[in-house]
Parts: sequence; structure tokens; C-alpha cells
Amino acid sequence: MQDPFESMINTTADEDAGPLDDFPESLLELGDPLELVHADEVPSTHPLEPGLFARHDGIPAHDQKLLEGSRILGVGCGGLNGAVFVRMARSGSKVMTLLDGDIVDRTNLSRQFFLGDDLGQLKAKRLAQHVATHAVGGADVTGIGLPFDEAIEKYTIPADLIIAGVDNNECRLQVAREARRRGKPAIFSMLSRDGMRGNVFLQSGSPLEPCLWCALPNLDPDRIMPCASAIISSCFMMAGFTIFFAHRALMGWGDLKPFNWREADLTGIAPDRIGMIRKRPGCVVCG
Ligand SMILES: [Zn+2]
Repeated sequence: MQDPFESMINTTADEDAGPLDDFPESLLELGDPLELVHADEVPSTHPLEPGLFARHDGIPAHDQKLLEGSRILGVGCGGLNGAVFVRMARSGSKVMTLLDGDIVDRTNLSRQFFLGDDLGQLKAKRLAQHVATHAVGGADVTGIGLPFDEAIEKYTIPADLIIAGVDNNECRLQVAREARRRGKPAIFSMLSRDGMRGNVFLQSGSPLEPCLWCALPNLDPDRIMPCASAIISSCFMMAGFTIFFAHRALMGWGDLKPFNWREADLTGIAPDRIGMIRKRPGCVVCG
């Protein structure tokens, strides 16, 4: 399959970054970019009570212990990764780090996991707090209010899996390269400009498998693609696919047939597609 994401990602960039440009910096008191949040496991009320994750038994290829022992790094704390990490926490992830240099603005509240008190605060720090409240199995959640490149330069961030839910190709490329350098899997969730379609790609940790650039060789690193018409349903649709990929990247596929790419259209105009992107000779990332 040739460049399945291209039509969605290389559309005209929106040069107007939106209301954040107008947010007066003098009003911001962002302080330390780091937020460390610990959540305790919800205690059982009696010895015969089923375990928190008992209902996960029977999910194909599910391995709760493996999930709990995995360190997951989220790049971007907007509509996509907010929806993803609240559910990763619910499903039993115990070590999560969230990165984003943005602050919460009023337009975010309609679909992202922020509340009125979060306005003007660093998204990563606030999302870390909110995600921790969903970690019923207990968790350590770290929020870092810095862009990806600055954060990985400043901090040694452990990650068995990276999940990128961002709106710009430069950051996607940075994540694809960093994941390859570490030999770890990375997942890329992407929404179309009109918010009606979405793609998710799983880049394996193996250099023998395709990277994001194998899938999208014409991706322009200078382009950003914020959703012009952000719609909460597509965020949740792609979050669901992303979580499934995240679980498979960590726990394997068992008897399931693996795939590394999924595309869906809310409107049903374009067919939903599932496939296995192949490695591309001469890829700029894979070499
Ligand atoms: Zn590649």
C-alpha cells in the first residue's frame, strides 16, 4: 500500500497557531516544568473480592503483569493522548511520563482532559495529575512541560513504548528517530485536518521493521497540522486504536494476526482500512 497517510498529513499547514499566540506570557507562572504524581492502588474491601483487573482475563494475548511493568512515554497531552493515557492508567499502566510544552487554553476544554482550574497551566503537569486519579491500580505519573526534543535532552526518560499524539511532523520525526535509536516501539496517532478521519501507525522496535518514514516518505518535517475542526469523537476513536496498539506492542499479538496501520473515517465515506506497511528501501530514518 502506497503512502496511506499522505493525503491526511501533508495538507496545507495552518500557520495560525490559534489563541495561544494571544495568551499574554506575563500572566503565566509556569514554574518548574516537572510534576511527579503518585497514586495508590484502590484497596480491596475483603479477601474474596476479585482483583481490579480480573475482567482482563480472557482478553486475547493480554498480560497484566507485563503491562504493569512497562514504562510508557506519551508525547503530546492534547485530545489524543489525554484520551489514551486516562485509559492506559485505567487498564493498569503503572509508570507513565507525559510531555508537552503547551499550556491549557479555553478551546481545549471541549475535548481534552482539562478543567477550568487548569487554564493557563502546563498541559503535561495538569494531565499527569488527572491521569493519576484514573490509575485505580496505583501509578507513578510524571508530567514534563517541555517539547519532546528539550525534554529528552534535559531528562533521562525511561520508555519501553513511546506514544506520539501530536500535530506536527517535526516532532513525529524526532520520536521516530529516538524510538529507533533506543530500539523501542512507537505509536503515532494522527487526525485529518477536518477531524473526520484518523490513522494510527505502530513502529516496531526492530530495525528490520518499517518506521513512520517508511510509511510516509513524503512527510514534510516543517509542517504542522492542527485540527481545524477538532471533534471529540475522532479523538476517542483513534485513542481506542492507539491503546490496542500499545497493548500489542507491549504484550505481543498471541494468536492474533499482526498489523501496524489502521485508518478509520467517522463519516463512513472512506472505507476503514487495516494493513501491514512494509519497510521502504532508502528510508531516511532507517538508512
Ligand atoms: Zn524507515
